[in-house]
Amino acid sequence: MIPILDSKRQYKQIGDKIEKAVCEVLRSGSYILGPNCKEFEKNIAEYIGVKHAVGLNSGTDALHIALRALDIGAGDEVITTAFTFVATTEAIGIVGATPVFADIDPDTFNIDPKKIEAAITPKTKAIIPVHLYGQPCDMDAIMDIAKRYDLYVIEDCCQAIGAEYKGKKVGTFGEFGCYSFYPTKNLGGMGDGGLLITNSDNLKDRAIALRNHGGAIRYHHDEIGLNSRLDEIQATILNVKLPYIDEWNKKRRENAYRYNKLFENCEDIITPTELSDTYCVYHQYTVKIPNRDSVHKMLQDSGIGAMLYYPIPLHLQKVHDGMGWKKGDLPNTEKDTEMVISLPMFPELTEEEQKTVAETLIKCINSSKVLA
Ligand SMILES: *Cc1c(COP(=O)(O)O)cnc(C)c1O
Repeated sequence: MIPILDSKRQYKQIGDKIEKAVCEVLRSGSYILGPNCKEFEKNIAEYIGVKHAVGLNSGTDALHIALRALDIGAGDEVITTAFTFVATTEAIGIVGATPVFADIDPDTFNIDPKKIEAAITPKTKAIIPVHLYGQPCDMDAIMDIAKRYDLYVIEDCCQAIGAEYKGKKVGTFGEFGCYSFYPTKNLGGMGDGGLLITNSDNLKDRAIALRNHGGAIRYHHDEIGLNSRLDEIQATILNVKLPYIDEWNKKRRENAYRYNKLFENCEDIITPTELSDTYCVYHQYTVKIPNRDSVHKMLQDSGIGAMLYYPIPLHLQKVHDGMGWKKGDLPNTEKDTEMVISLPMFPELTEEEQKTVAETLIKCINSSKVLA
């Protein structure tokens, strides 16, 4: 059995430190918005190279609060991709705005800047590019469009901590960068957690008020806010883990290039493309293959933890019924949704395991052709 992710191996490396840090929090009596959250916000802002970081409950809340802080709501449109996790559009829906989907570039799986311009209307307020699977979007092109049309940019970096575009970390290009510390992410807590980053003092103040019932001063409430704070236990765990993130991302990259090599002579498998001048952090290693669904089943039967991210594109999800989207509207997104499969990927994955994954995948593809 080779799982898609084995969190226990990471815990073996750093479990002692985590247990010690968590015990200290338990004994401290301070559990919400205490010194560990402050310390983590300082550390991660420094790591990313941004002025402010605001610790939150989740990546979903980070997107939600970013939209609120920019006063995006009913009657507004936000352009994003349908090839992402539902949280991206959920946040748009929660504030009462409407998601408008632009098709992807099939090479990178990310929003195609060339498709953004055609989706702009007088109601468009913002673009949410998603750095999917840890691959940075084409930020020069996106920022250029945002400038020309006076749109905000909120980057969904939930799968891309540590990823860089032209030497700058993702999340620092637009008004806000949104991060998630869900346990399976490259930097994961042991519960839910999220983060907003920004270089703007005003937007930081607004985010800090929104995460804590809409007021900067206790029991003074200026607007409807949320209860969305990063708790002290998650913050201390993330403080322990943060110094390892570069090493872990580097190992993910090495694993990705080893897979690429293993599939070099296999014409059926389309391996991931990297944009030039980017640093991809391979939250997922995702390939495109023929007969995907039957191969997926065979892989599972062979004990390989392959997953489909994501089996249904967002414009065809029931939650978006009644918005006028139909099959055929986003051809690249729809085609790739039927072809992608994500293979086991985590820093501690061994060369031996990768060889087994590769051999099994090739074998399954070959048998699927006989069946087809
Ligand atoms: C995980 C994820 C989110 C949501 O993060 P949570 O912390 O689970 O709320 C949003 N967008 C993308 C692309 C994600 O992968």
